[in-house]
Amino acid sequence: MTPTRIALLGATGSIGESTLRVIAANPDSHVVQSVSGFRRLDALIAIVSRWRPARVAVADDSARDALLAAIDYQPDVVTGPDGLVALAEDPDADLVVAAIMGAAGLPSTMAAARAGKRIALANKEALVMAGTLMMDAVEHHGATLLPVDSEHNAIFQSLPTDYRCGQSIAGLSQLWLTCSGGPFRDEPQRDLSAVTPAEACAHPNWSMGQKISVDSATLMNKGLELIEACHLFNVPADQVRVVLHPQSVIHSLVEYTDGSFISQLGRTDMQVPIASALAHPARIDSGVAPLNLMELGQLSFAAPDDERFPALGIAREAVTASQYHCIWLNAVNECAVADFLAGDLAFDRIADRARQALDSLTTSPIDSLEAVLEADRNARRWYSEL
Ligand code: NDP
Ligand code: MG
Repeated sequence: MTPTRIALLGATGSIGESTLRVIAANPDSHVVQSVSGFRRLDALIAIVSRWRPARVAVADDSARDALLAAIDYQPDVVTGPDGLVALAEDPDADLVVAAIMGAAGLPSTMAAARAGKRIALANKEALVMAGTLMMDAVEHHGATLLPVDSEHNAIFQSLPTDYRCGQSIAGLSQLWLTCSGGPFRDEPQRDLSAVTPAEACAHPNWSMGQKISVDSATLMNKGLELIEACHLFNVPADQVRVVLHPQSVIHSLVEYTDGSFISQLGRTDMQVPIASALAHPARIDSGVAPLNLMELGQLSFAAPDDERFPALGIAREAVTASQYHCIWLNAVNECAVADFLAGDLAFDRIADRARQALDSLTTSPIDSLEAVLEADRNARRWYSEL
């Protein structure tokens, strides 16, 4: 069997690290063709030294010089946003793992779609910003989307194995996204204006990058996932429901018209959905211990608290309104989360900023990647002028 050659975009992040662990558990079937890093140069140097990929993407020329000085071979080193696109389009890559955080991941994810790649998609913001364009590119260029986000991966695994993302689902009643509720779900009295970045990033069930950890605490993550689900599974927002499930054992469910619910269960370790995406439709070792059903105890479910955590409702409004609204939602949320992490914005103001942005918005047509990126820039300018 020829191994799958992987372009790992966002190798220095949390998903990148988990992906490398899965590849380490499957050295005969999966190899690292290329990796990208951005600010964490030391981490990138360690990855490149260990995996010796043929190609590496770094932020700029000085990072390239530092990388080449620190390693003992000569990979092809590319720089900046164009370098990420080059890795995504690389004819020597069979599968692209899209694991860059935020809007920065959009152009390379789109390039992978246009190059007809198999794409293990973690970068949900790319679909939030450009869902229709992305799904059109996937279909037109014969690309394959394999969801990595645990909820969407669970739904994908609960569908027939020949299901391709973007198709409608036969016999579907609705999709259920499960939601842990974040670190503040059990503290109804807690003053959310006083939450610190360290508290917001201490997720009860998952270990993740900072931005998605904050999104999970505000429930904006579930809002972005709602938009992601609409595009991946070709359903309107009112066919996607969210249910609190604090144990995070059931990773989401498909409800069919005959009353059947089909779901995927597993440990809260991203190596499981990553392994499923890397090998689909085959199965490989994820490197994760199996779920111990005897130790699980109880699984519980409840409705989310929309008043305390308005972000989910705001996202639902955005996807119902237009693609343009989704771009603004994503951009303003990214800016607000960065401000919160820097200590410049109170936790409960993150959703307020998104609310404020959408309230002031009239829609505009989005028919190209350039239009998406321009709308993203406009939203960020609006935010910085607040
Ligand atoms: P991290 O912050 O841990 O990693 C982000 C990666 O993107 C790093 O490799 C980082 O490089 C790189 N990066 C950040 N900004 C840029 C930029 N401007 N240009 C190029 N590269 C950049 O994030 P996660 O791994 O947690 O998340 C990655 C994506 O996966 C996100 O879209 C997230 O929503 C999604 N996701 C993550 C899950 C998780 O469990 N972590 C679960 C489901 C989805 P560097 O570190 O070198 O600066
Ligand atoms: Mg998720």
